[in-house]
Amino acid sequence: MIDFQGLKDILINNSSFIITTHVNPDADAIGSALALFAILKKMDKEARVLSYSAVPYYLEFLDEDKVIERYNPDAHNKVISGCNVIIIADLNSLNRTVKMEQSIRNSPALKICIDHHQDPEDAFDYKFCGTEYSATGEIIFDFIKETGIAGLDYYIAVNLYAAIMTDTGSFRFDRTSPKIHRLTAELLEAGVNPTYVYDKIFDQSRISKVKLLGETLAGIQLNETKDLSWMVITKEMVERTGADEAEVDGFVNFCLSVQNIKIGILFFELKDGIKISFRSKGDIKVNKLAAEFGGGGHTNASGARLFNVKLEECIANTLKAAEKYL
Ligand code: 5GP
Ligand code: MN
Repeated sequence: MIDFQGLKDILINNSSFIITTHVNPDADAIGSALALFAILKKMDKEARVLSYSAVPYYLEFLDEDKVIERYNPDAHNKVISGCNVIIIADLNSLNRTVKMEQSIRNSPALKICIDHHQDPEDAFDYKFCGTEYSATGEIIFDFIKETGIAGLDYYIAVNLYAAIMTDTGSFRFDRTSPKIHRLTAELLEAGVNPTYVYDKIFDQSRISKVKLLGETLAGIQLNETKDLSWMVITKEMVERTGADEAEVDGFVNFCLSVQNIKIGILFFELKDGIKISFRSKGDIKVNKLAAEFGGGGHTNASGARLFNVKLEECIANTLKAAEKYL
């Protein structure tokens, strides 16, 4: 059980807050950060949201007021060291804040983690975490309901809806419980329009993204036993189609849409390294597989980032490791 009263006390007893989230933020990251920001503002607290990555364009509708500031060491390191509390939302290992990591670690501020991933690292003063939660947004919903810390206005509701809709794979992943549908009903009652949110997030793709998806799908490969599939996105493909890193979010799920596939992997060549995304069905723990490469995540969705390794070598090593999990 999460100590929501303890979290409420921290918010009440402090005055200045920094909220941050992970690199390549998804809707759970952005929605959770903005909902927490809104709660703090209702309490008349000083709060800022800092993000290492820009808000992806398909999530800009959640942040029309442009609350989220892109991290800039010169402007923000002082704020990170001078605030009372740093809230880390939707991640539990600080290396996922990339260049913010050191200034967060060095800050004397109270560090709290609100998250639903497995195996949190030891860097936090307080953890308000549970892997039984489908999304960080669900934790924030429960926090609001249990403590009455804020009303569920449209702003908070639409951010939590986006968070929960995406992290449950549009209400189809394992943790899509009756409770999720009940709380979603409350979010709709607060004014959220599911058609609008879905359209903004999934049906406003740039043509560059759709073309890159097409090429990526065309290149899908299967192992000999046809229960593992993988896709590769090279720097060249990204440059040629004009897509960007954030637009690749969700591609890996197509690996699992092939019959009998139990593990799907996407290798994504970045400017400065390789991002691997893992997905699995059933009880195949791809978070353990990701951990072999310094990453982590959930049982069925995980990832890792590798630096200083060649793409071909990375693919060969990863596929070999993945076979052990089948
Ligand atoms: P995705 O493949 O969608 O980027 O990430 C899926 C999940 O894997 C994320 O929700 C996150 O839990 C985890 N994840 C992705 N990349 C990393 C990483 O570099 N390090 C860790 N620890 N987890 C990651
Ligand atoms: Mn999440």
